[in-house]
Amino acid sequence: MKIVTGQFGSVAPGGRSAIWAATGRLGGHSRPPFDELNLASYVGDEPPTVKVNQQIAAQSIGLDLASLVIMEGVHGAKVAVVDRGGPPPQGAGGFDALVTTTPGLGLVTLGADCVPIVLADPTNSVIGAVHCGWRGLVAGVVPAALAQMHILGADQVHAVIGPSICANCYPVPPERVAAVVAALPEAISAAACPESKVVCLDVGAGVRAELAAAGVIVTTLEGCTAQSTGLFSYRRDGLTGRQGMLVRL
Ligand SMILES: [Zn+2]
Repeated sequence: MKIVTGQFGSVAPGGRSAIWAATGRLGGHSRPPFDELNLASYVGDEPPTVKVNQQIAAQSIGLDLASLVIMEGVHGAKVAVVDRGGPPPQGAGGFDALVTTTPGLGLVTLGADCVPIVLADPTNSVIGAVHCGWRGLVAGVVPAALAQMHILGADQVHAVIGPSICANCYPVPPERVAAVVAALPEAISAAACPESKVVCLDVGAGVRAELAAAGVIVTTLEGCTAQSTGLFSYRRDGLTGRQGMLVRL
């Protein structure tokens, strides 16, 4: 997948809007096993090359790298409110959601199988970016991000969910199923797994259920990270890069 871009809100002159982008594996400069458009500085890729790739991603939403806040998800539910580019403020455990009301600031969520989500209420100029895997579902990172957006004035939120690993490719051990069932039964996909004794998780379905319950208007980008050679997949490849989603006011 090459970079896909879109817009939340009004396309009329003077109308309020937010711009988003979703990156894939194609169109960057990293060498194997991080080829091509790896956006993560924490996976072992060459730092100068990662910066070039990050600049390509920034330009897809009309920004420079200095105006991005790039989140390293840690599978928790902490939300950072940010107002300037650079690394998010360091707190215990790190962050899995970024929220801002600052125009021209790009929020970036990275992943390779987890669900990337960008959120926006363009009318009230509030945006967010979220990283959510199964631990994020259990921890409640999506509701936490929405709650922070509402505190900052969001009313009607729209979301775009990027490609993640599908249920067919994500059989999990019973203890993980138990944890997720307790939090969000919509994320259990009993029908999807090829072997009847295993249960599969559909984290994307869980995220969609959470967003729908909160009244968010959702668009989902097609694609399974583990099945598409145009996307990074940790479960498929282990040592690999990260794609991302970006959003800006
Ligand atoms: Zn799949």
